[in-house]
Amino acid sequence: MKKTIPTFIIALLLSALNALFSQDLDDTEKMLQELSEAPGVSGYEEPAAQVFMKYLKPLVDELQRDNLGGVIAIKKGTADGPRVMIDAHLDEIGFMVKRIDENGFVKFFPLGWNFSQQLLDHRVIIHTRQGPVLGVLNTGPDIAEDKIIPRADMWIDVGVENRAEAEALGIQPADPITHESKFAVLNNRKFLLGKAWDDRIGLGVIIGVLKNLIKEKHQNMVFATGSVQEEITLAGAKTTVEAVKPDIAITLDIDVTNDLPANTSIDYAQPVLGKGVVIILHTAEMLPHVKLRQWVQSLAEELKIPHQFMLEEGGGTDAGPIHKWNLGVPTLDLVISQRYYHSANGIIHRDDYESTVRLITEIVKRLNKNTLDELVFKPLK
Ligand SMILES: [Zn+2]
Repeated sequence: MKKTIPTFIIALLLSALNALFSQDLDDTEKMLQELSEAPGVSGYEEPAAQVFMKYLKPLVDELQRDNLGGVIAIKKGTADGPRVMIDAHLDEIGFMVKRIDENGFVKFFPLGWNFSQQLLDHRVIIHTRQGPVLGVLNTGPDIAEDKIIPRADMWIDVGVENRAEAEALGIQPADPITHESKFAVLNNRKFLLGKAWDDRIGLGVIIGVLKNLIKEKHQNMVFATGSVQEEITLAGAKTTVEAVKPDIAITLDIDVTNDLPANTSIDYAQPVLGKGVVIILHTAEMLPHVKLRQWVQSLAEELKIPHQFMLEEGGGTDAGPIHKWNLGVPTLDLVISQRYYHSANGIIHRDDYESTVRLITEIVKRLNKNTLDELVFKPLK
């Protein structure tokens, strides 16, 4: 007699398998997943901007855009006190299509700094006018184990026979390309894996702060901005700062950690994953406003908010153009540490997210006309 497995047992097995690979996410994890997975390389930020605005809309008084695609959200306080800008950038690193060769292989151009060794064997999505096209980024078979392959020797294989077939999918030069990389909560629940933490985690922090500000009183105008094109030209911060005209600014970004296995330590990096918000002491683009940095540092000490420091020798963020606006804007870069900088699969720590949200909420709560007056320079009496 032939035995068959009852369908309900198959269904049970399938749902058990499903549960094994799908995760129950809390509200913050769901929000971070949406931000991380939204495709939005420099110049093509709109999907990320839409997710950001969806979360901001119920939390702010007004949502504006600038002409390059930047988002400006306004949350009024109990007084029209200092104009406080909190900035993160919408764009992620990625690529754009350069050309398609006669065999249908897609050559690409980087948007933002991409480390060649991290690119090979990645699945990528080309966003065409006809919809997304899956491909794999790779190179030829004769690669020496330790050799870094130049980008010119790489291509994206979309699985077609020739250029005409690739073009029929809608692929054309300048189409944006993102990594195919799904968000995941790792084995210790606080470790979050995903693409584009640079700088979607900054957008996530802004959303967390504005959620807190629904319950808290503040005597200032908060301008939360999502800027465009940070990874290529810092252009978006130049336009948003013009629109906001801030008295003071906090910029959010990510930076590297120094808690990896041997031979990878970097002299200038001190932060460790999970040990708190990082106060930047220097980048090639900006020295943070000393009085503001000291004030924020004392606040973190007073409230026992975990914090760390980073003296970055190179690099730069939106803080560069923002602090140079008009007569100068007291600006501080607060960042979240990320393992695997500018990669398709970065790891951040939930505690760092929480301490950054908490510190910025407290900064906003305490900033009023008097505190600002103590931070700015005065003429001789
Ligand atoms: Zn960034």
